[in-house]
Amino acid sequence: MQIAEIFYSIQGEGRLIGIPSVFVRTSGCNLRCVWCDTPYTSWRAEGQNWEVKEILQEVAKHPSRHVVVTGGEPLIAAEIEELAAKLKSLGAHVTIETAATLFKPVACDLVSMSPKLGHSTPWYRAKGKFAKTHEVRRLNFEVIQQFIDSYDYQLKFVVNQRDDFGEIEVILARLKKVQVSRVLIMGQGRTARELRDKTKWIIELCKHFGFGYTPRLHIELFGNRRGT
Ligand code: SF4
Repeated sequence: MQIAEIFYSIQGEGRLIGIPSVFVRTSGCNLRCVWCDTPYTSWRAEGQNWEVKEILQEVAKHPSRHVVVTGGEPLIAAEIEELAAKLKSLGAHVTIETAATLFKPVACDLVSMSPKLGHSTPWYRAKGKFAKTHEVRRLNFEVIQQFIDSYDYQLKFVVNQRDDFGEIEVILARLKKVQVSRVLIMGQGRTARELRDKTKWIIELCKHFGFGYTPRLHIELFGNRRGT
């Protein structure tokens, strides 16, 4: 399994924010968000091949039972189901962080979906060569619905501008049984300052729509650094 990094930190986003967690970051992604904050898992994917048992040994070195499997896109890894099942059988609380573009019946306690909005499409980056596939793949309503119907979930949307809330409303209208309390909004930004500049208007719009706001604590605390 291609792994970019395994590290121990605190969850910086979403409803488990602040929980000490071991992060297993797979490398490789089927999307190419223009602002991707982990380009070493997508635009220039790098990492090393780990066997599932080696990953389990590394995870076991840390005291928290919370494990976050993230990426890249962890669901494209062939061994993801085996890894998640083994983590669960060892008593871990497993969160899978995914863009929800493909479904696998992976064993976990929380599916943290982050469907990508229109501003993520790389129309000009790399001469736009990934734009079309990104556009086709970035929203898969069937997959999102399948996760909503089968798992404990949260829906995290990255917003860049006020209009993005309208796009989120359109997406939610196409899904069934979404609990508004599970919809969380966070700003797009790779620095604490970029995030801070957006906080006020995001919170005002969250109040209007009834969505939750989530900070990106790891960026505020450590900057956009690997291993944090
Ligand atoms: S889905 Fe995540 S890892 Fe993949 S390109 Fe977008 S931000 Fe990067």
